[in-house]
Amino acid sequence: MKIFVLNCGSSSIKYQLIDSEAKKVIAKGLLERIGTAGSFLKHYSVYDYAIEIKRPVANHTEGIQMVLDALVHKDYGVIKDLSEITAFGHRVVHGGEKFHESVLINEQVIEDIKKCIPMAPLHNPANLAGIKACMTLMPNAPHVAVFDTAFHQTIPAKAYLYGLPYELYIKYGLRKYGFHGISHQYVSGTAAKYLGKELAELRLVTCHLGNGASVAAVKHGKSIDTSMGFTPLEGLVMGTRCGEVDPAIIPFLMDKEDMTGKQVYQYLNNKSGVLGISGLSSDFRDLEKASGNGDERASLAMDIFAYRVSKYIGAYAVAMGGLDAVIFTAGLGENSPVIREKICENLGFMGASLDKEKNAVRDGIREISKDGCPVKLLVIPTNEELVIAEETERICQNIVFL
Ligand code: AMP
Repeated sequence: MKIFVLNCGSSSIKYQLIDSEAKKVIAKGLLERIGTAGSFLKHYSVYDYAIEIKRPVANHTEGIQMVLDALVHKDYGVIKDLSEITAFGHRVVHGGEKFHESVLINEQVIEDIKKCIPMAPLHNPANLAGIKACMTLMPNAPHVAVFDTAFHQTIPAKAYLYGLPYELYIKYGLRKYGFHGISHQYVSGTAAKYLGKELAELRLVTCHLGNGASVAAVKHGKSIDTSMGFTPLEGLVMGTRCGEVDPAIIPFLMDKEDMTGKQVYQYLNNKSGVLGISGLSSDFRDLEKASGNGDERASLAMDIFAYRVSKYIGAYAVAMGGLDAVIFTAGLGENSPVIREKICENLGFMGASLDKEKNAVRDGIREISKDGCPVKLLVIPTNEELVIAEETERICQNIVFL
């Protein structure tokens, strides 16, 4: 099956056309700056074509049309006709408590995704814009929603409820939801295959460490806890997000800095994290360089980040009653030996000792723990698009059987 996978942001469309049987990407690309005069599409095909088209794109419908045209283009297209695409898989950030798994999109599903907008005001409207545009342009194809929150719907109430009046959970759905579920799910399954074990036997801590970062406790294939919460602001210190802070800091800042609640929220989302601590950058490549040149605040930001990840690993080992492997993924988890080394500094007592030579190797799925360690340390490049394609295929096969 050829599955078209879409990840729509408010001004961007990231996509891949995937052959789900061969698990191969046939074409992929990124359209950026939708709604401005500077829109541009970067499109790559399996035949080594890379093209860049610059022209104004007013909205998601125009953008998706532009991408579909590229897929069937006579020179650099990868398919002859759009009917060759079996189904469309859409990433949706927030599915609330409604969606425990991926679903075929219909009017009711769209309404239910809309209801989650207050919990993901930046992401869900953009995801919906992509869904609607795509369904308008390709009305006869099946469209499937794959949720970032769904994998974490197995988290028990003792882990997802906050210490707030229970009525607030009933009234507003105030609870931990967790995010990056597609990635945590993918690396857990891949780790089991790599280790030659059943996922149902394993207790894994998965560390998705990118610009946004989260840790999950995956016990016997199910998420039982995760560091992000009601929104993706909770948990680890991230690129620009503060992660967990004492909630009393919010009224304190409103008072002392003369800020509204909304301003504080933006401050905690966009000006905090390692950017705020270092005063330099949210990108760990910049921090590593600066730290190497003696910048103390860059070093401090890296230490704070790594310390908090390692604390979650310890906490989740306890939550699962033991630990078989820790998995590092996403931009930083896959590419930064320095950060992995800092995180693993104190894990030896749990039976997880880092092998520095193995840790220095780049590329592919790899074990970085010392030979014979009872707890494995693994690096597994994430592949969220493949999960979306596989989920889309699975849901579409169910339709055929019905
Ligand atoms: P992601 O959000 O998964 O795309 O990850 C992006 C982040 O990964 C960047 O902001 C960097 O902080 C980090 N990153 C990517 N490549 C490297 C690298 N080679 N060394 C250190 N950090 C990296």
